[in-house]
Amino acid sequence: MIARVQPLTTTRAVRGSFDYRIAPGQAPVVGSLLRIPFRSRSLLGVVVELADASQLPPERLAEPEAVLGPGIGDDLVALSAWMAAEYCSTRARALQLMIPPGAAAGRGPRLALVAELADAGERALSSGEARLTDRQRELLAALRDGPELASRLGTGSLRRLADRGLVSIERRPVSRRPDLHALGRASASPPPLTDEQAAALAEIERSLASGRAGDAPALLLHGVTGSGKTEVYLGAVAAALAAGRTAIVLVPEIALTPQTVWRFRARFGDIVAVLHSALAPGERHDEWMRLRSGEARVCIGPRSAVLAPLDDIGLIVVDEEHESSYKHEGDPRYDARTVARERARAHGALLLLGSATPRPESALEAARLRLRRRVDGRPLPSVRVLDMRDRHRPLHPETTIALADLRRAGGKAIVLLNRRGWSNFLSCRACGRVWLCPNCDVALVLHRDGRFVACHHCGHGEPVPARCDRCASVSVARHGAGTERIEHELREALGDEAFPVMRLDADSSTLAQRAATLQRFAAAGSGVLVGTQMVAKGHDFPGVSLGVVIDADQTLRFPDFRAEERTFTLITQLAGRTGRGSDGGRVLVQTLAPEARPIGFAAQHDSDGFLADELRRRRALGYPPYASLIRVVCAAADEEAARGIAHGLRLRLGPVDGAVLGPAPLFRLRGRARSQLVVKARDRRPAIEAVGRAVELVAPDAARRGATVSVDVDPQ
Ligand code: ADP
Ligand code: ZN
Ligand code: ZN
Repeated sequence: MIARVQPLTTTRAVRGSFDYRIAPGQAPVVGSLLRIPFRSRSLLGVVVELADASQLPPERLAEPEAVLGPGIGDDLVALSAWMAAEYCSTRARALQLMIPPGAAAGRGPRLALVAELADAGERALSSGEARLTDRQRELLAALRDGPELASRLGTGSLRRLADRGLVSIERRPVSRRPDLHALGRASASPPPLTDEQAAALAEIERSLASGRAGDAPALLLHGVTGSGKTEVYLGAVAAALAAGRTAIVLVPEIALTPQTVWRFRARFGDIVAVLHSALAPGERHDEWMRLRSGEARVCIGPRSAVLAPLDDIGLIVVDEEHESSYKHEGDPRYDARTVARERARAHGALLLLGSATPRPESALEAARLRLRRRVDGRPLPSVRVLDMRDRHRPLHPETTIALADLRRAGGKAIVLLNRRGWSNFLSCRACGRVWLCPNCDVALVLHRDGRFVACHHCGHGEPVPARCDRCASVSVARHGAGTERIEHELREALGDEAFPVMRLDADSSTLAQRAATLQRFAAAGSGVLVGTQMVAKGHDFPGVSLGVVIDADQTLRFPDFRAEERTFTLITQLAGRTGRGSDGGRVLVQTLAPEARPIGFAAQHDSDGFLADELRRRRALGYPPYASLIRVVCAAADEEAARGIAHGLRLRLGPVDGAVLGPAPLFRLRGRARSQLVVKARDRRPAIEAVGRAVELVAPDAARRGATVSVDVDPQ
């Protein structure tokens, strides 16, 4: 027997699988993880096929050094080929995302001393004859509920009981389970569903029961914020489990929305596994193994959980499907929503997308289920658009008054400004020089109470210049306001112990610290949370009655076909955080473009109107979902090389059904000049293939000139 093995190497030059002779005693299957000798190295590899014979004579074939653990399922092996083709990547890179976490490090199960009550111990407890101290009696009683880690009860005391034959102690593999107890308790049984929830769930159950969900369009649960979408997901998962199948639930970011995880844990218990990067490596490995062995049947996690090792998947849920975090920024640049579609198709599973602000793509392609009302029956907050033209302070007077009123009444507010730092950029008042990053062609942003400037692309930082190094003027102007400055101004104007001002953005360091800020805000009786789009994501804070968006059209000024969608989504999602709980609420939107359509639709809570309008615009301009975009970026030390490679690519691309834009220069990043090509393709697969071929053709030239070429299908 021959195993065709894909070596897991990141070099693109290694293409295709390699044959190995299976040694006696080895029994690999498709998906098995092997350690193989490969070009005088030892590598991990995945079996992609088994065969009776090889093209090569047996004596020229090597044998795998070892078969490691259970490997991945054959469905994932097939999916790896699909991912490589869909994202112009390699199969090895796709497989790398699928193998058990820590496999490369040789991670195995954790062994620990586990104590169990022996028959003699049971008798000693019930007869009361044996001489036992109170403490020993306690220990034995504790073991009556089942085996326990010796270290948890006291290994020394247990050993003395083991010496008397009352307890057995042995070294066993134990799971490192993420500790979710701290997250609180949720109600284990479902509440009575609202009519809208019940109708949506009935539709989902019909689709699951039809057995044809994999080929049918996805279902899109389009429900306003607070309409109880999670309850519908829970019902859908219950239905999939009742049919004997498994389920994956994708969420945008677990550390910031732990509520979702514990609601699933509370409803379904231990069969729920969580996979995400904030887990310790051992915990991740063990959660993965619980899924692979079938012990866990529901997987919750961010985008990578779409590759969870589950068999017979009946349902894949994508919560907050509009979130750009579903796109992976490494190679392969996969989109978990697209991968979910393919995986659902292969498993005959239902794909259930959910959002208050669905993507135009999903609105067009999926069958829609609507939840139009909030569960608690409260109206959505009123939205007021404030014109900021001819105003020179970052806050509109109405905003200032509203915040002061709120402080007096003791309420909570969220203030959103999608820009970190203190000021946007610095310029010399005398000669107009703008301070730029030495590595990237972008302006440096002022930080740390105005003492420091930093690049938001490469991380370069330096102290604020005391004088202009071109004209020596000491008069430096600061332009615009970021979250730091707004935080500072609010604290100066309103902040005190009873009304704390907190900030949440990518500068507030670690994920854990961000989660702590969110918890502090949730627990506070009153106060303000200032931050970037992070503050508008899925959190459910009680008592927030005011939302403020500063510079709402900032996202509109990006040269990006999703600018309208992002603006609409940001305002609508912020409104969704406002006025839950008892006091209703309102939202103030400060903007330089009060007549902009996305702002108007958001002010009316009109997502149907927005989607119809946006789809019309996308169709007219030939943007997704009416075309697929493929972006190719060539980067090199000098501009000429970057442009040259991009031109070479353009020439070798051949005719494409659609349009090719560029090559066009992009701003320099991390000291590398860049040039980009964008393909707008009506026919997706042939265009992806043409790009893949062209990239291979220019690869030798690129390597010689020290250029890199990266392909992004469906760029964000
Ligand atoms: P969404 O995700 O649609 O914004 P959630 O799923 O977070 O909304 O639900 C909002 C709140 O309503 C949650 O606190 C949830 O527990 C509660 N809820 C959902 N469905 C019901 C129901 N049928 N009866 C009572 N409370 C519900
Ligand atoms: Zn100057
Ligand atoms: Zn930089």
